[in-house]
Amino acid sequence: MSEASTTKRAEELRRNLQSVRGRMAAACARAGRREDEVLLVAVSKFHPASDILAVAAAGQRHFGESYAQEALAKQDELSGQDILWHFIGGLQTKKAKQVTGRFALIHSLDSEKLARELFKRSKDARVLQPVLIEVNLGEEQKAGVEEHDLIALAEVTLSLKERGLGLDLRGLMCLPPKFDSPEEARPAFAYLRELRDDLAGRLGAPLPELSMGMTGDFEAAIEEGATIVRVGTSIFGPRPVK
Ligand SMILES: *Cc1c(COP(=O)(O)O)cnc(C)c1O
Repeated sequence: MSEASTTKRAEELRRNLQSVRGRMAAACARAGRREDEVLLVAVSKFHPASDILAVAAAGQRHFGESYAQEALAKQDELSGQDILWHFIGGLQTKKAKQVTGRFALIHSLDSEKLARELFKRSKDARVLQPVLIEVNLGEEQKAGVEEHDLIALAEVTLSLKERGLGLDLRGLMCLPPKFDSPEEARPAFAYLRELRDDLAGRLGAPLPELSMGMTGDFEAAIEEGATIVRVGTSIFGPRPVK
C-alpha cells in the first residue's frame, strides 16, 4: 500500500474503534454499569498484521483470533508490541500444545479431553492458563459443550490446577446463531448469565467473566451482563475472503 492509503486506512480503523467504544459506553450507561466492567476484544481474524498495528496504535490492547496457525504467525510478526491475545475459535486437541501459554485467555474450552490436554501442556510450559468454557446455546456450528454436560466439565476444569500451574477457569462464553436483530440474541445472553450464576453458586467458584456479544449484538450483550465483547466487523470492516 502507498503511504497515503496506509494513513487513510489507519484513520478509518481509529474512527471505527472510537465508534465501538462510544457505543459500548452508551450501553454501559443504559445498564447502570461502569465502562471498565466490559473488556473489548478486537477480533482480527483474516485481517493483516498492519491493521492490528494501527488499531493497537489507537489504544486497543486485546485482540482475538480464531485459527491457531494464523494467530501464531501474527504473534511472531507483532512480537514486542504491547498486545494481549485471545483465542476465540474452535480448538482441536492436537493444537492445544501450540496455543498454551501464548494467549491471555482461551474462550473455547468445550470438552474434557481438551481440558486434560491443555492441563498437561500448561504444566509442561509451567503456566497457569486462563480459560472460559464455551456453552452451546443453539450454535450454528457444532461448537461448545452441551448444557447438560456443563457442570461436569466445569468441575473437571476446576480440578486441573496443581501448585499454581494448569487451568484457571474464569467463566463462560457463547456464540449464539446469527439473528436479524440483536433483540433475538438477548435471551441467549440473559440465559448464559443465569447459567454462570447457577454454576458459580453450586461450585463455590467466582467465574467472573461472561464473553458474549459481537458486531451485531454487543450492546444487548452488555445490557445483559457481558464482561467481554468480541467485535470484529465493526472495527476492521468486512473480512476478506480467504
Ligand atoms: C469472528 C468472530 C467474532 C467477531 O464477529 P463480528 O461479527 O465480525 O464482530 C466474535 N466471536 C467469535 C467466536 C468469532 O469467531
